[in-house]
Amino acid sequence: MKIEPAQAIDSSELTIPVNDSLQGRTILVTGAGDGIGKAAARTFARSGATVILLGRTQSKLEAVYDAIASENLPEAIIHPMDLAIAGSEDYDTLGRSIQEQFPALDGLLHNASELGALGPIQHYAPESWMKLMQININAVFMLTRALLPALQQSDDARILFTSSSVGRKGRAYWGAYAVSKFATEGLMQVLAEELAETTRIRVNSINPGATRTEMRRAAYPAENPMSLPTAESLMPAYLHLMQPGSASHHGETIDIRTLLTELPG
Ligand code: NAP
Repeated sequence: MKIEPAQAIDSSELTIPVNDSLQGRTILVTGAGDGIGKAAARTFARSGATVILLGRTQSKLEAVYDAIASENLPEAIIHPMDLAIAGSEDYDTLGRSIQEQFPALDGLLHNASELGALGPIQHYAPESWMKLMQININAVFMLTRALLPALQQSDDARILFTSSSVGRKGRAYWGAYAVSKFATEGLMQVLAEELAETTRIRVNSINPGATRTEMRRAAYPAENPMSLPTAESLMPAYLHLMQPGSASHHGETIDIRTLLTELPG
């Protein structure tokens, strides 16, 4: 599968200033077409990175591509992929393409997830469980595995796994979503320990907390979205963790809101 640039348009506001803290770096963001992933992709581009936009809906990825292009930032790459159906060969092909086209992969933000059904375990449909696990954790494993050779070519790579509060303390009725996030934490910990001594790849898991996105609206339909922080407001913490200077974090379960309060400015 070839990684192809594409065209298109977006007008959403991003308040983070343009800087060069990710200059020359290549970063892949999953779920880059919407919500937090979209804000992260634009933030990384604004900081000088070439961003590989991976997601399910091509038109959404094209809108992010165009938002980046409209600011004359490094040209993004669109890579449509449905994590529910992609197989290991698709991930391996992507990994090889990145190695052919870039000297290294410097960052990987695992952000795409599905909420799936909410309800008691006893009534959770097995096929829904399997599909959600495929997207939220099996795909995360396969993508990580396939991209590690490219990440190892970077002198200072970052992998961020996206978790949730329900992946750190179980909560009734959150079903496969919560279990997949526990698995995400486990994958992060195992990988972090494996890579700690042998590479300069730094691996952490982040919990963005309640954020004004489609996923949050689906989980809490009665909630006023305007009462929630925007994805854009989280971006200083995402940028901090993706920057080469953030090497002190490794193998950590990070709460984005807490980190935001600790950052200067
Ligand atoms: P969102 O707005 O629903 O966006 C999710 C993204 O994942 C979308 O771009 C979606 O693509 C993509 N995606 C879903 N299924 C996919 C698939 N099968 N293949 C490829 N891409 C797929 O969610 P969000 O709120 O930004 O969430 C981002 C991350 O933060 C998730 O890991 C979530 O669990 C975590 N999180 C969010 C909150 C919150 O309050 N929002 C709280 C805690 C943790 P399409 O748009 O094309 O469907």
